Amino acid sequence: MRVGIVGGGQLGRMLALAGHRLGITCITLDPAADSPASQVAPAIVGAYDDDASLAALAATSDVATYEFENVPADAARALAARIQVHPPPEALDVAQDRLAEKALFAEVGLDVADFAQVDDLEGLERAIDIVGLPAVVKTRRLGYDGKGQAVIHDRLLAEDAWRAVGEVPSILEAHVAFDRELSILGVRDVEGNTAFYPLVENEHRDGILRVTIAPAPGLATERQERAERHVAALMDRLGYVGVIAIELFERGNDLLANEMAPRVHNSGHWTIDGAPTSQFENHLRAIAGLPLGPTTITGHAGMVNVIGSEPNLAELLAAIPDARIHLYGKQSRPGRKLGHITVLEGDAEVLGTKLLQVRSFSPDVSP
Ligand code: AMP
Repeated sequence: MRVGIVGGGQLGRMLALAGHRLGITCITLDPAADSPASQVAPAIVGAYDDDASLAALAATSDVATYEFENVPADAARALAARIQVHPPPEALDVAQDRLAEKALFAEVGLDVADFAQVDDLEGLERAIDIVGLPAVVKTRRLGYDGKGQAVIHDRLLAEDAWRAVGEVPSILEAHVAFDRELSILGVRDVEGNTAFYPLVENEHRDGILRVTIAPAPGLATERQERAERHVAALMDRLGYVGVIAIELFERGNDLLANEMAPRVHNSGHWTIDGAPTSQFENHLRAIAGLPLGPTTITGHAGMVNVIGSEPNLAELLAAIPDARIHLYGKQSRPGRKLGHITVLEGDAEVLGTKLLQVRSFSPDVSP
């Protein structure tokens, strides 16, 4: 079995590594000749929307997928004309437009913060009347990791916010005073069977994920079940095949859906070491027509992203011999995700202490 992947970043690399054990060869397409995935698996160097490169990927693959949501939807369709593509390109259309995304969430029963469409400055004024303040204006397209967003606290500053996001089609969302950020990963196979990983707690700073704790501490079973029902409805509605991630805000008893990623996700990296089947393996199983694997967690897992600069491995491993290190083969740069470190513990409190220790050794260098 050969799987073509559009994108050769760390997600492509970890998919390729998971595929290797199953005898599945992953071939990636990425414009960078030294992409993280190209270091561990065959790679085609080319632009994501270059038709000749997409044709070459289709010619060498039995099925295709993608590892980031900003793959041009037309490129995914060009690929789908030649070969089966999972998840469906419609999932990209939704994930690339915050308005369509929020509307679909609401349609399948996920709660969302109040939102309104914004096309111009007058529209922003009207949206403020509907949504209230404080609110966040976000560009509908190509927002990623907190970019293309501006918080509005004061109506007098609406024009500044409109300029800050580049005066492009946007949405205005109520600013949520959340207790914490959670996410859930679901996976659906070609027959429509589903599995879900436990809701996890995520800590972001400057829009970049720093730490994930699995399962999210102190979570009622009912909340997990409710989230699973909604993600199942979303996947069914999209005819989805593969892993999907939904990011949520927890506020009191509310769970508000913020955004989806139609791919494997950073908040699921703990599953490589902490779950019987990793998100990467389950994504490949789903798209390759294989049965899904178990997604339960017995103990507690914590994941710390390595950002901007690599840790001193000798020092880190001397202090924490059981730390699971994953480095992606990327050049250091402030704010760049270079790797992650996972720790596993039977006890939640011990995990908390261990995570502090891991954080003290793993650089977190932001721009
Ligand atoms: P996003 O690009 O939508 O994932 O947003 C990046 C981060 O900005 C989120 O992880 C939150 O920390 C914060 N954020 C986004 N939308 C809101 C909101 N409506 N209310 C409060 N914080 C938000």
